[in-house]
Amino acid sequence: MIKSIMKPFIGLFLFVGALGANAQNGRFQQAVQYTMDVNMDVQSNQFTGKQVLKYTNNSPDTLNRVFYHLYFNAFQPGSMMDVRSRTIADPDRRVASRIAKLKPNEIGYLHAKTLTMNGKALKFKEVETILEVDLEEAILPHSTVTFEMEFEGQVPIQIRRSGRDSEEGVRYSMAQWYPKMANYDEQGWHANPYIGREFYGIWGDFDVKITIDKSYVLGGTGYLQNPNEIGHGYEDEGVKVPTPSGKNLTWHFKAPMVHDFMWGADPKYKHDKVLMENGITVHHFYIPGAKTTENWEKLKEYTPKAIDYLSKNFGQYPYKQFSVVQGGDGGMEYAMSTLITGERPLQSLVGVMVHELAHSWFHGVLATNESLYPWMDEGFTSYATDLTMSNIFQTSSNPNRGSYNGYFRLAKSGLEEPLSTHADHYHTNSAYGAAAYSKGAVFLSQLGYVIGDEVRNRAMLRYFETWKFRHPNVNDLVRIMEKESGLELDWYKEYFVNSTKTIDYGVKEVKGSGGNTEITLERIGLMPMPVDLVVTYKDGTSELIYLPLVIMRGEKGAENGMPVRIRTEAWPWTNLTKTLVLTKDFKTIKSVEIDPSKRMADLQPENNKVEF
Ligand SMILES: [Zn+2]
Repeated sequence: MIKSIMKPFIGLFLFVGALGANAQNGRFQQAVQYTMDVNMDVQSNQFTGKQVLKYTNNSPDTLNRVFYHLYFNAFQPGSMMDVRSRTIADPDRRVASRIAKLKPNEIGYLHAKTLTMNGKALKFKEVETILEVDLEEAILPHSTVTFEMEFEGQVPIQIRRSGRDSEEGVRYSMAQWYPKMANYDEQGWHANPYIGREFYGIWGDFDVKITIDKSYVLGGTGYLQNPNEIGHGYEDEGVKVPTPSGKNLTWHFKAPMVHDFMWGADPKYKHDKVLMENGITVHHFYIPGAKTTENWEKLKEYTPKAIDYLSKNFGQYPYKQFSVVQGGDGGMEYAMSTLITGERPLQSLVGVMVHELAHSWFHGVLATNESLYPWMDEGFTSYATDLTMSNIFQTSSNPNRGSYNGYFRLAKSGLEEPLSTHADHYHTNSAYGAAAYSKGAVFLSQLGYVIGDEVRNRAMLRYFETWKFRHPNVNDLVRIMEKESGLELDWYKEYFVNSTKTIDYGVKEVKGSGGNTEITLERIGLMPMPVDLVVTYKDGTSELIYLPLVIMRGEKGAENGMPVRIRTEAWPWTNLTKTLVLTKDFKTIKSVEIDPSKRMADLQPENNKVEF
């Protein structure tokens, strides 16, 4: 009796449990814990390492294979990255045909020498930048295994993102340098070969020891564990650092909850440390000189300011440290740090620092799969950068204008591909760049037009709080925007992300009719949008007529700085024109204008305003 009652009861309980998991969108996060011990030979530029990787399979699936990224193997003549960078229609000048010309002592490589799982040897196959590993014993759902690997590598001449001896003379920019487990999520494995674009990683704890010539100064991801042994500006105040006896020093870093680990190293680095009021320490590393020192001194004021602004507007920065490291070939974001070129005018130096710092929110903490959604990282970072720069330097009333212009050029170029394109698969570098950076930024700025700026701003904070450390995708973002605004926004994603259809609305005709005024608007572009129509009268007053789309199933609230809304009238997207009758004499009207805020990405703004 009890059994027969209990059985369906347990069944129901499990069913509810499964629904609970679905309420979290059926999502799981794999987990990693890396312990690495690395020896760098600064003469040969080669390194050896041992890696212990505790890997937890939080998926409901049994894994029979795993994949590691071996990014440095891309820097070899004939690699996929080499071929792609030479044959793409518009080569990146930083790469172009440089990989093809690398000599054996200039190439990069990263090889696994031995690999075990739970102490048993594994067979593995290196397929250029991916190590394919068939497991002897499967990794069961919700279990943890330990991989141990010995590896060896050579740091390539600096070509893209990482490498040695950069144009500005930085010895080592060590990014994408270690064997890194590929991510497995609800869409399966993401073992993309490295052809030069975008990343996706697993959060976890890193414990990294780097042994290197004692003249070198290191900075990057992670908190230094032995500052009073190392010195170089890391030591606590008043501590006398002992002179190391041997030729090398071993630097010990720990980084919790990050999905990557970068370090830069140079004997000439100057190390500056700024402690912010909120307890975050900002580290700067640069080679002093006529083109750097003055501006990097000033940077000490800007990095903390930017951390404060971004934390306030996009969610609290969750780490206790951020390091700006001179290196690389432009600017590139890493966990708790960035590598940027340093010989720049002040505005450019601050701009690149802010951009890479802003990535901490979108690449570091939210960490969408950047290969699938590069625009949710680069675009949102560009958007946040423009707002931060405008706040710091008190400039421009429309900070995202540059992004709109970049998107307009793309849309008119005939080269546009939808934002839903995989980062590696865009046909041209220019279409990728303008889509990911510019159209991605416009997505957010324009969303302010659709749902209201203040609602969008609140939703961005909610997005961060809801999805931090959980790899959100485009649907997750749109759902947050829908919940915060109360509006249906699936159409916005379908048109603006999944298609290249463009926006063009126009004022077709304004005429007097028996003491009233008749206004006819038309939709010329293929993408429908809500319309803010502002009517300005000759007495200087103005009024807003708001035309939401029927498919929004609602209307945005009143916005600060907009004229009083006198009417709301839904416009079905199927109708190409809409005629409104104003109970005002035609002679009293000075102008009629669609979206004077210019947040709507209207490709032909010339037809948006009629003046009398
Ligand atoms: Zn970026």
